[in-house]
Amino acid sequence: MIDKMKIKQDQWKKTEPKTLDIQVKPNENKKPKIGNKIVISTKNTSNQTKLTMGTVIEINNDSFKIKTEEEIEENTELQYKITNNTPSIANPREKINNYIENNDLTNLVLEAGKLHGHICPMVVLGVKVGVDGLKQLEIDHQGMEDIIVLIETNSCFSDGIQLSTGCTFGNNALIYRDYGKTAATIIKRNEIAIRYNYKAYNYIEEEYPETHKLFEKVVKKREGTEKQQKQLQEKWRKIALEQLNKPIEELFKIEKTENTSHLNLPKKAPIFEDKYCNKCEEKIMAPKTTQKNGKTQCIPCSNTNYLQLDGSGLKEINK
Ligand SMILES: [Zn+2]
Ligand SMILES: [Zn+2]
Repeated sequence: MIDKMKIKQDQWKKTEPKTLDIQVKPNENKKPKIGNKIVISTKNTSNQTKLTMGTVIEINNDSFKIKTEEEIEENTELQYKITNNTPSIANPREKINNYIENNDLTNLVLEAGKLHGHICPMVVLGVKVGVDGLKQLEIDHQGMEDIIVLIETNSCFSDGIQLSTGCTFGNNALIYRDYGKTAATIIKRNEIAIRYNYKAYNYIEEEYPETHKLFEKVVKKREGTEKQQKQLQEKWRKIALEQLNKPIEELFKIEKTENTSHLNLPKKAPIFEDKYCNKCEEKIMAPKTTQKNGKTQCIPCSNTNYLQLDGSGLKEINK
């Protein structure tokens, strides 16, 4: 499913900006098709890794042509993977599960980027934690019903976790506790739990002081120019990809427990009775109704307090 080979500079030539002609030995199995997406990772002479995408635009006897999203420097060592873009309807997570089995973090991060909207260090760490958790718990990726994730933040990290574990708000396998910690526990119900708590708090500040300054300006103070925003995005992506190869123990405090009773987990999602609001007539889950003057109403119609999950966490909004 994933094709991978290493090509040295002399094996490909630059034909025009952003187009690469990749020479391959004739081998039917390894030939991509026109339109196939290709993930290209390159290493330049100073050993910096860069990731870009390409699309196959032409197939010849012993080569194929791809158009890359970004220009690739001269004297670059290049590695590529053909990504399989056909999702299975019966098992939509098939591709993701294969990536997990093959420890293909690069492709998982690209998938997480589709959900999250960008590639950033925390989304990469979320992916890493999810993959490590599933592997450590020796979870069979085909049957995930008993897998739950307890997440302690609603930051970029949680999107990486949702993508890699398949536990989401929508399928009720994700429990959110508003502790404001970059931490998550991957759980096999009644059997085992493994908590990851991020410990490399100041690594960007210490290892990338320039980027840290830029981050403070662009994100925290919201004062960056368009150029600085772009610069930050690029640096952010680079730092994110560097996290791919870091050992997880360096980044997280990891605690494994052979039971789950201390976690006070809720039971599997119950199915609730349907009720109708007396005022707006919209359907509501029974536990979310309120009684006003003896009549069943929804939360907005009855003008009562409600809970909201947003950028500042979970909070009660007082009416
Ligand atoms: Zn992010
Ligand atoms: Zn209503």
